[in-house]
Amino acid sequence: MSTTSSTAFPQLLAPLDLGFTTLKNRVLMGSMHTGLEDGRKHFERMAEYFAERARGEVGLIVTGGFAPNIEGWAKPFAGTLATSGAARRHATITRAVHAEGGKIALQILHTGRYGYSPLCVAPSRIQSPITPFTPRELSARGVERQIRAFVRCAKLAREAGYDGVEVMGSEGYFINQFLVKHTNQRTDQWGGSYENRMRLPLEILERTREAVGRDFIIIYRLSMLDLIPDGSSWDEVAQLARGVVKAGATIINTGIGWHEARIPTIATSVPRAGFAWVTKKLRDQLRAEGITTPLITSNRINTPEVAESVLAEGNADMVSMARPFLADPHFVKKARENRADEINTCIACNQACLDHTFAQKISTCLVNPRAAYETELKIVPIATASAPRRKIAVVGAGPAGLAAATTLAERGHAVTLFDAAAEIGGQFNLAKKIPGKEEFSETLRYFRRRIEVTGVELQLNRRVTAEDLKPFDEVLLATGVTPRDPQIKGQAEGEARGQVLSYIELLQGRGIVGQKVAIVGAGGIGFDVAEYLLEAGHSLTLDAAAWRRHWGVGDPAEVRGGLLRPAPEAPRHQITLMQRKAGKLGAGLGKTTGWIHRAALKMKNVEMLGGVNYEAITPEGLWVSYGEKRADTQLIEADTIVLCAGQLPLRELQAPLEAAGVKVHLVGGALEAGELDAKRAILQGTRLAASL
Ligand code: FAD
Ligand code: NAP
Ligand code: SF4
Repeated sequence: MSTTSSTAFPQLLAPLDLGFTTLKNRVLMGSMHTGLEDGRKHFERMAEYFAERARGEVGLIVTGGFAPNIEGWAKPFAGTLATSGAARRHATITRAVHAEGGKIALQILHTGRYGYSPLCVAPSRIQSPITPFTPRELSARGVERQIRAFVRCAKLAREAGYDGVEVMGSEGYFINQFLVKHTNQRTDQWGGSYENRMRLPLEILERTREAVGRDFIIIYRLSMLDLIPDGSSWDEVAQLARGVVKAGATIINTGIGWHEARIPTIATSVPRAGFAWVTKKLRDQLRAEGITTPLITSNRINTPEVAESVLAEGNADMVSMARPFLADPHFVKKARENRADEINTCIACNQACLDHTFAQKISTCLVNPRAAYETELKIVPIATASAPRRKIAVVGAGPAGLAAATTLAERGHAVTLFDAAAEIGGQFNLAKKIPGKEEFSETLRYFRRRIEVTGVELQLNRRVTAEDLKPFDEVLLATGVTPRDPQIKGQAEGEARGQVLSYIELLQGRGIVGQKVAIVGAGGIGFDVAEYLLEAGHSLTLDAAAWRRHWGVGDPAEVRGGLLRPAPEAPRHQITLMQRKAGKLGAGLGKTTGWIHRAALKMKNVEMLGGVNYEAITPEGLWVSYGEKRADTQLIEADTIVLCAGQLPLRELQAPLEAAGVKVHLVGGALEAGELDAKRAILQGTRLAASL
């Protein structure tokens, strides 16, 4: 390890002395459920996944949640640590992490009423709004059984070689459910007064500390801002923190928002480090009382620069980043080696991590498809693989072409990357203009640097022809897509008048947009275009105070749970968003982010119409009908009509190249435009490049 003196990140890379052990820096890899935890078959794979992050020098890793018993299951047969046999399997993980010089804690997660399981239990028989099962109310003996399960789990974690445990007390899970009256209506010693409601975490911590000894890390994840009605008051939060310290916690981690809260807490549109102030509030209060227990802050911290300033401003003693370690396992090492510009930044899209979890798929990462696939998707140098070095052309520097070109060059092939545009990125150059998608620029910064590091020859402003590509051994066509033309009657005249714009023209600033706007097509791009128009010139993501007002996030010292009435700014356009399909608009958006986009549009009075037929465009606007009643037309008044009707593959070079005998591969939109997204584009580009 180098010293931290010559680094741009002195706070981040400073060791943290916990008395009985020292963490090498201030970075915690926060707990993430990847799906590898469930069942018994993934321990080797999990070991490699965590070992890779330990090699990347993160200070302390926290595993995904493991239930202490079956009543705490997140879903049937979810990962559980309740027997010595299970502890032996876990030792595979701890050995692998320790061999790389890392430290790892096991998260104990009891989901309570959030369990997708008929066996779920809770303080009171109150179903959650986000799960289908009504929990069984625990008897006093039942509560005692749960406490013993937590303690047993912690002891087994120690037996398995973990350096500590994180007791999950936030996000609305079991322990959190005891803390607030919203979910705890008991009248025995576990309910009623706050002293009674907070007894559960304190009992768990005290007995755990007694069972594991002094030299074992216990992190308590404390909900500092519930963001639900009737959430904890600030006095209660502070009282709990004091109690948690007294009961034996080594570190307090920050929890923001219950899962059922209707305020985004980790999506890409949340301002960076947007909740660090909450941890600071508690830290300042505890420090004033002489309590020096380290506090960890979290949520939307994704670059070393942001993490450093969070620490430098005294918000916390450590930062927790979770998804950034899917995006780049070597985040800390690169920061330490002054190679921060080489970090593959998490763009907080949730598309390949959380959305996968909800679809019962193994989590990975949109920008790093090797995440959790380390044992399977290997990038082997061609010298090692005994493959011949080839001269390969990649046409198109969108996400698919960028992933393919840099992976091929990393393996040792001679790669030339062409793009007709003046900059790399393809459609990501449009995506990054959407308010709340500013993070997409980071992916382009990463690839720009990656092109330099791997030695790809980049030729911009080059719209290549089949003739240009004949000298290459192989050609990858990553030429993307072209917008679908919905061919509405009167559309051509509307285009000539400047009334009809494609989403590309709109986002490139070509065209004048009137007050009333009709959007044809309500896929991801239709929604994005609506948000672009509503927030034009003022991204809430870049204005944290405005963002908090918009969603109704308040000071928990003034309002319980920090929940205020949302106060959105007046919309800048009157928008109608349409699709031909009947049913809810935005149904195909991401599971964990679609609700945010729908809520944002509703808050700005966007009218959403499903089941429409587009009959004609006239200077007054767009004429539509519904279902079979085609003659019964209705005018949607519109000064501007934006076409977002999906896309078609662009692969005109394929046929002439194949006719000339050149070996051609298609990736990304060029291969298939339907349901294309950057996740698929990057995955395809990477996998193909790994195989050539
Ligand atoms: P493209 O990105 O289309 O790149 C193709 C490239 O090929 C272009 O740069 C083009 O100039 C070049 N090219 C074409 N023909 C030639 C030629 N003959 N010679 C040289 N160069 C050529 N996806 C997500 O996953 N999540 C999102 O949140 C998201 N948001 C989006 C928001 C907007 C507003 C838009 C427009 C798209 C969004 N997408 C999102 C979609 C995502 O950007 C695309 O799925 C992805 O860019 C497709 O990658 P690709 O490499 O296949 O093609
Ligand atoms: P899309 O999601 O396929 O949506 C296309 C829209 O056009 C749909 O509403 C579709 O609905 C409509 N449409 C299709 N054919 C039409 C026709 N002939 N006439 C009129 N309307 C038609 O595609 P997209 O919005 O262009 O997005 C492209 C890709 O980028 C998507 O696959 C998406 O995954 C990705 N993206 C993702 C995000 C994200 O947040 N994850 C954001 C932006 C983009 P009807 O057929 O019902 O009319
Ligand atoms: Fe981050 Fe998106 Fe990767 Fe998840 S999928 S880790 S949110 S970049």
